[in-house]
Amino acid sequence: MKIHEYQGKALLRERGVPVPRGEAAYTVDEAEHAARELGGPVWVVKAQIHAGGRGKGGGVKLARSVDEVRTLAGQMLGMQLVTHQTGPGGQTVRRLLIEEGADIRQEYYAGLVIDRAAQCVVVMASSEGGMDIEDVAAHTPEKIHKVWVDPLGGLPEADALALCAKIGLPEASRAQGAAALQGLYRAFWDNDASLAEINPLIVQGDGSVKALDAKFNFDDNALFRHPELVALRDLDEEDPAEIEASKHDLSYIQLDGNIACLVNGAGLAMATMDTIKLFGGEPANFLDVGGGATAEKVTAAFKIMLHNPQVKAILVNIFGGIMRCDVIAEGLIAASRAVALNVPLVVRMKGTNEDLGKRMLADSGLPIISAETLAEAAQKVVTAAA
Ligand code: ADP
Ligand code: MG
Repeated sequence: MKIHEYQGKALLRERGVPVPRGEAAYTVDEAEHAARELGGPVWVVKAQIHAGGRGKGGGVKLARSVDEVRTLAGQMLGMQLVTHQTGPGGQTVRRLLIEEGADIRQEYYAGLVIDRAAQCVVVMASSEGGMDIEDVAAHTPEKIHKVWVDPLGGLPEADALALCAKIGLPEASRAQGAAALQGLYRAFWDNDASLAEINPLIVQGDGSVKALDAKFNFDDNALFRHPELVALRDLDEEDPAEIEASKHDLSYIQLDGNIACLVNGAGLAMATMDTIKLFGGEPANFLDVGGGATAEKVTAAFKIMLHNPQVKAILVNIFGGIMRCDVIAEGLIAASRAVALNVPLVVRMKGTNEDLGKRMLADSGLPIISAETLAEAAQKVVTAAA
């Protein structure tokens, strides 16, 4: 799950990381009110969408009067903001952050992710703040400095200071910079984040340090213990198909290909997608129906998959362990009838009650293409989609 910049800044502020004073606004009047409360002389009007690159796309604008804040707010609210992270359609701007303008002397980058190989959080920092960190990583990786954090100890001040020195933070600003990194680390850790980023982290004219941007991704599997984060969820920013899937407790991620996949188990789903690609196909989605899928759940999954106009064929790959093949067959038959299936359906089933499941499919009269092995299933579905 992602949150907006102003929400991320609140998490940082709570942990002592200095951020500009600011207020969220949903309307032009609220934007004006926020600007008056903050006082001038310079404000920044910032579109709040769950994507980066807003500055380049016209979603971050400087204002020098309350009138200008009103004008910019009017232009931004409702606009389709296109950035390199939104896709060509862009994202509708429904919220703004009105904040005080900062006096930027230099922009730096700070970001945290989990290093799975090292089994800990890695803190990355760079002198190349503000711009696309992906470009820095690709062309000048030596400009990104890293510290790996012992999960039991947290980020030690000495390590944070050393990182600040490496990225060239002026000596007088390093203590504040280190405190900001430690605050960012605590915000990451306390909230079960999978990514936390301040880009840019700035040094101001007077040497003080501030976080001008804030980005967080949270681990969905840990959200059950963070109701306060769940309350920040903004459904307008999420894919409608993925929202629908989450209502049915299905793990669904929409992709760009044309072969829909329905699989039980995340590992098997990954292997299925790999095999489709191996035979030259492109998966239209990742879908794990879980271990205890019911006929209703399978029907819901079918509806979500078929709602995607790209889909040209479906591959069902089920391993009957806890899940019985006859239950899946019942679900497939019900679902195919309920949704008026109009694309080829390839089914591969193995495991508990396999024979019964296969017989039910054969007796259903539905045009189902069956396969014995995953390779055979993948080849058949790739051919069917073509
Ligand atoms: P994004 O990463 O989506 O482009 P940012 O919040 O990083 O959005 O803003 C882009 C740029 O706008 C920053 O790198 C900074 O130069 C400028 N900026 C953002 N907030 C402020 C602010 N409060 N005061 C002055 N400049 C700002
Ligand atoms: Mg940024």
